[in-house]
Amino acid sequence: MQKIEHIGIAVRDLAGSVPLFEKLLNTPCYKTEIVASEKVATAFFRQGETKIELLESTDPEGIIARFIEKKGEGLHHIAFEVADIEKEMKRLKEEGFILLNETPKDGADNKLVCFLHPKTTNGILIELCMERK
Ligand code: ZN
Repeated sequence: MQKIEHIGIAVRDLAGSVPLFEKLLNTPCYKTEIVASEKVATAFFRQGETKIELLESTDPEGIIARFIEKKGEGLHHIAFEVADIEKEMKRLKEEGFILLNETPKDGADNKLVCFLHPKTTNGILIELCMERK
């Protein structure tokens, strides 16, 4: 794995959280994007080499809505950039980690992504991501 590509934060109200994070980070949101397949609306901020991704559910039954119901707003996942996502998925599977998707899927920000089950990673949802070519 390479650098931490981004940190995902679950929020209830993206429209309210974007100006909050713009103030906090002192940088404008550079992209908002709806990922229909994941039922999320996202907003991105650059902070040095890393990005912050805010996630709001677009569906009351969506994964982010259910996460907030259980745990409240806050840290949702850490995403690592990988050079070859299929190779990294294979390696992690062989190491005993549980992949939440067996093939890379489309994520926000022009990425192919795979998530690891938090029960095999000390409770932290881990995302692998690779820039789509
Ligand atoms: Zn993410």
